[in-house]
Amino acid sequence: MGNAHYEITRNGQTIQAGYSVPTTCERTRCNEQIDRGLAHLCGDMPGGDEYGCGGYFCGNDLYMNSNPAASGSACRACNDRYDAQHPEGDEEASVDAMVVTFN
Ligand SMILES: [Zn+2]
Ligand SMILES: [Zn+2]
Repeated sequence: MGNAHYEITRNGQTIQAGYSVPTTCERTRCNEQIDRGLAHLCGDMPGGDEYGCGGYFCGNDLYMNSNPAASGSACRACNDRYDAQHPEGDEEASVDAMVVTFN
């Protein structure tokens, strides 16, 4: 059992996921046969999170996540969105993760 097959909610819909669930790459016009395992997931969490859309993509359509806080991969669209929101040299991005209050 484990991660082989489970249900997740994505965009308000319950779908089957896990590496035993066959699917095709979700990139438009790509018909690569893959599965819904974490290896093909965009983002860190099935169903989508702040790091990705939760889509499943083949190896050609999945990239190292542009967000340094992410541990998983991301599709081109999500990386493009992240890059657009975080231009290079933007050091403010992680400032709220290390707020220190001195009294
Ligand atoms: Zn994505
Ligand atoms: Zn693909």
